[in-house]
Amino acid sequence: MNIRIGQGYDVHAFGEGDHVMLGGVRVPHDCGVLAHSDGDVVLHALCDAMLGALALGDIGVHFPPTDARWKGADSRALLRHCNGLLAERGWKVGNADVTVVCERPKVGPHAQAMRERIAQDLGIALDAVSVKATTSERMGFTGRGEGIAALAACLLTRDGA
Ligand code: MG
Repeated sequence: MNIRIGQGYDVHAFGEGDHVMLGGVRVPHDCGVLAHSDGDVVLHALCDAMLGALALGDIGVHFPPTDARWKGADSRALLRHCNGLLAERGWKVGNADVTVVCERPKVGPHAQAMRERIAQDLGIALDAVSVKATTSERMGFTGRGEGIAALAACLLTRDGA
């Protein structure tokens, strides 16, 4: 098999602050998120999808919240670390698709910048990276504005695919 598929999901609760990090982009907002790292749900969901595709465990195993190294970590460094784990095994991301779920902040105006950062960190073409957004129609925790969620899917390929 020269292709693998993975999926990931992440949530962070809103807390004090003036911005949220999404896909490596600082998005101004009237609150922040509660997190050990920078709380970037887009990159965390994507990391989990990449790890999951190779059955390498999850982000909590690789970057435990008890490990001071990752306190306040830039999640782009986590993404690059995961990409390195794939590369060591001869794999790379063929394409990735992420959906952000929240009522606010508005994601659309920042989606292109997120795609650019992710494509750069993964060393793949911009058209292989998708970032989309939806609300949950004011239902549930995202609908009530209590937090923000992201889902990711990715395909991995290796030579011969
Ligand atoms: Mg997270």
